[in-house]
Amino acid sequence: MMNLSTVIAYGCRYRTPPIKQLLNYTTFLNHHHHLHLLPFNNPKLPNFNLLHTGNCLFFGMERFWSRSGISKNKQMVEHLQRYGVISSMKVAEVLETIDRALFVPDGTSAYVDSPMPIGYNVTISAPHMHATCLQLLEENLQPGMHALDVGSGTGYLTACFAIMVGPQGRVVGVEHIPELVASSIKNIEKSAAAPLLKEGSLSLHAGDGRQGWPECAPYDAIHVGAAAPEIPQPLIDQLKPGGRMVIPVGNTFQDLQVVDKNLDGSISIRSETSVRYVPLTSRDAQLRGY
Ligand code: SAH
Repeated sequence: MMNLSTVIAYGCRYRTPPIKQLLNYTTFLNHHHHLHLLPFNNPKLPNFNLLHTGNCLFFGMERFWSRSGISKNKQMVEHLQRYGVISSMKVAEVLETIDRALFVPDGTSAYVDSPMPIGYNVTISAPHMHATCLQLLEENLQPGMHALDVGSGTGYLTACFAIMVGPQGRVVGVEHIPELVASSIKNIEKSAAAPLLKEGSLSLHAGDGRQGWPECAPYDAIHVGAAAPEIPQPLIDQLKPGGRMVIPVGNTFQDLQVVDKNLDGSISIRSETSVRYVPLTSRDAQLRGY
C-alpha cells in the first residue's frame, strides 16, 4: 500500500478550485494498488495529508460520498451540478440517461467522483472529467454530428456521445485492448445507448487510436481519454473545419487541451485545466506497466 504522497489520480483534474479538489480526492485512500503509481514530488501539488487530516468539509464530503453513499446515478449528476462541474442541462440529461454503474467493474463504487481501475493498467475517468469533456464538446455533439472517442475503455463516454448526436449521428470508439472493446460493447448493450449500437450509429473498434479512425472522418468532435506526449497528427487531420478535439497532452504534468480547427483549416489550441491521465501509448507498453 502506498502512502498519500504517492497517490495518483488518473483521468482526474489536480489543480482546481478548492471544492472541486475535494470532489477529486475523496476516495484516494482506496483502490490504488491496482494502478501503476508515480510519485508526487511537486511541492505545488495539493498536500494530501493536510487535506485528509485537517479539513472538516473534506470529511463531510467523504462521509457523504462513500458511506451514506450516493447510490443513484441521478444523485451523482445533481451533485456535479451543485458543485458547478455541470452547468449544461443537456449534459446533465445525458449523464442521467446513461447509468455509470453499468460501466464499472462489479464491486466498484460507480458514483464516487474518482477514477476507478478497470484492469489492463488503466482506469475509467472520474465523473467530473467526463462531465467536463462533454461540456467542452457540447456544441460539436449536436444531433447528426460525427464524433470519435480515442481510448474508449469502458465505453461510458462513447455511449454518452452517441446519445448526444442521436440516431442520425455517428460515434466511433477506438480502444487498443480488445478485451476492453468486448466488455464495452456488453456494457453499452445494457444501457440506454443499446439501440444506437444495434442500428449502427455507434460502433467500437480495436485499434491504435493514435491513428484515429479514417473510415468515419472527418469528425465534429474528437475526445482522447489518455494523455498524448504530443497531439497525434492523424487526429488533427481527421477533425472537420469547425470541429473540436479535447485531449490531455503531456507526460507527468498534463494539460487538457482544447483544439479547434477553424473554418480556414488553421488550428487554435488552449489549455483548459491541469489533469492526470494514463498515457496514450502502445498496447505493449501499457500491459508492461509503462
Ligand atoms: N475514457 C475511458 C477510458 C479512459 S483510460 C473511460 O473513461 O472509460 C484510457 C484508455 O485509453 C484505456 O482504456 C487504454 O487502454 C486506452 N489507450 C491507451 N493508449 C491507446 C492507444 N494508443 N490506442 C487506443 N487506446 C488506447
